[in-house]
Amino acid sequence: MKPLVYPAVLALALVSGIAASWTAFGDQINNNAYDFFFRLYQPPPRTPDSILLAVDDASFQAFGGLVGMRKAFAAGLNRIRDAHPRVVAFDVTFADTGTGDDELEAAFSQTPHLILPCVFLEDGEHWSDPLPRFRRHAVVLGQVDAQLDKFDAVSREIPLEKATSRDRRWALGLEAYRESRGIQRIEESPVDLRVGDLLIPSKRSEGRPLLVRYMAIGGIPRVTLKQLADDPAKAELFRNKVVFAGVTDQTAVQDRRMTPLSDSQQMAGVEIHANVYETLARRSFLTDVSPSVMLLACLGIVLASGATFYLLDGWAANLLALSIFAFANFLPYWLFKHSLVFPYMSSTVTAGFAIAGSAAWRHLVVRRQLRQSESARERYQQAMQFVTHEMKTPLTAIQGSSELIGRYALSDEKRKQMAGLINAESKRLAGMIETFLSVERLSAGQMELKREPFNAPELLEKCVARVRPVAENKAIEISTAELPVNTLLGDRELMEYAFYNLLTNAVKYSPAKTKVTVYGAHEKGRVLVTVEDQGVGIAPKDARRIFEKFYRTDSAEKSGEKGTGIGLSIVEQIVVQHGGSISVASEVGKGSRFTISLPCPN
Ligand code: ADP
Repeated sequence: MKPLVYPAVLALALVSGIAASWTAFGDQINNNAYDFFFRLYQPPPRTPDSILLAVDDASFQAFGGLVGMRKAFAAGLNRIRDAHPRVVAFDVTFADTGTGDDELEAAFSQTPHLILPCVFLEDGEHWSDPLPRFRRHAVVLGQVDAQLDKFDAVSREIPLEKATSRDRRWALGLEAYRESRGIQRIEESPVDLRVGDLLIPSKRSEGRPLLVRYMAIGGIPRVTLKQLADDPAKAELFRNKVVFAGVTDQTAVQDRRMTPLSDSQQMAGVEIHANVYETLARRSFLTDVSPSVMLLACLGIVLASGATFYLLDGWAANLLALSIFAFANFLPYWLFKHSLVFPYMSSTVTAGFAIAGSAAWRHLVVRRQLRQSESARERYQQAMQFVTHEMKTPLTAIQGSSELIGRYALSDEKRKQMAGLINAESKRLAGMIETFLSVERLSAGQMELKREPFNAPELLEKCVARVRPVAENKAIEISTAELPVNTLLGDRELMEYAFYNLLTNAVKYSPAKTKVTVYGAHEKGRVLVTVEDQGVGIAPKDARRIFEKFYRTDSAEKSGEKGTGIGLSIVEQIVVQHGGSISVASEVGKGSRFTISLPCPN
């Protein structure tokens, strides 16, 4: 395997992990994780600064439905006035005239620090504002746009700013905070807003979002208009508080939203704005981790997974990988507890892919090592087979001759002859070992092939001469035709081994009194050398397999000729190393034609 594959696998895991959060599915998972963390972790409780003046179901019934609402609000405002609330922020627009306007206006006029809402209209050009008669009593208007997530309609963040082409307005909760602290101006920079000494991280480029730290429903105290009417002493609860007035009745208004905390219960708009205020008052801002931090974290996960499977294996690697995966899952939650929002999908997908990729890589490497050691063992076994088989003959001759010399008093001439035989056979043995080792080294890629010119007809003739005694035993005639070239390039000894093997096979697998012919041809820039016999032949199904190591045909087995099935595989290796190929054409019972094709030397 190439050394770059592993880093590439890891880089792919990193890219997929980061890209995962950009998909709609990834976004949804990130949001679900965010909501889950929200429910899992609540910052230490703190007494809220705000209170809801709510119109619930019972209040509606008591004051005559929507028609009676303005009067009811007016009465409510009058009741809490003496408790001097710090701010009264309304989440009801009162954009058109209705019953009780006079009473409501009178009450508004008596209410200091009054903030009225305005709604950003769909056309993006206009606001729906309260009637001018109400508006003039308000210190400011605050917009009440609750942003919903585009995929699951949950309100996780709200825009602190909304602008038409003419004017820009701040969110109701933000204005309530500013007014409650007696601050005149909200200062802004591209990345944050400043209200007095409060710095709110919120980017202009993203539409000034604020992730709301919701308190559970009911976390912000509420007093309904009816409760207030029934028990005027409840007005005390509003002392010094920031009041958010609005409708909480489930049926009367559409202004209810899912929040990360609510599973089935939706939260009234007015309570969401109070939560915005509380988020600011508690200064507990949730911010997205910066892209570079996210990239670093994911990179860390990828490197850890990569190193795990690079350095370890077995149980140790698996356990560590499991810990990394657990860490990748836990990290977003841990960061959430520290008010940082990390895309859950990125860390888990990165970890998942990096671990899977690294484990697969490890698996492949181990398998490759196994294969290598297996093939080494196989080669070794073959070597042993070869040694035992091919070298037996010369050894027997050497053994026999030396025994004769030792045992009997032989004539000088006879001894000379024996010594000559021993010498010749040991040389053959040495040659064989040399050939064998060369082929082994060549196929293991440890040796460069010798490339020297040699005389091909001479070499063939030498091989034929070596086979001839055996052939004559079977009355087989070997004839050679002229070759089209004289000189070939390559390793002389290896080529000799190849030709000699083809010739011995031809003689071995032919019945007596047949012919073996050797001839050459020239074809498309290649030299072809063919050994043809009239022997037992090879069935088509065996034609390819005879070049496999140890493969012998049934007819060969039955013929009684000894063999190992290694010869042809070595011949093929030699020929291929020379840039050539070997093929066989044969018909059972009629004979075979082995052809070696070699590149023409120029
Ligand atoms: P071996 O001769 O030791 O069995 P080889 O690798 O040289 O091993 O040959 C493999 C097999 O191919 C032989 O066992 C035989 O079945 C078949 N074979 C090779 N040469 C011939 C031939 N000339 N005619 C018929 N069969 C042959």
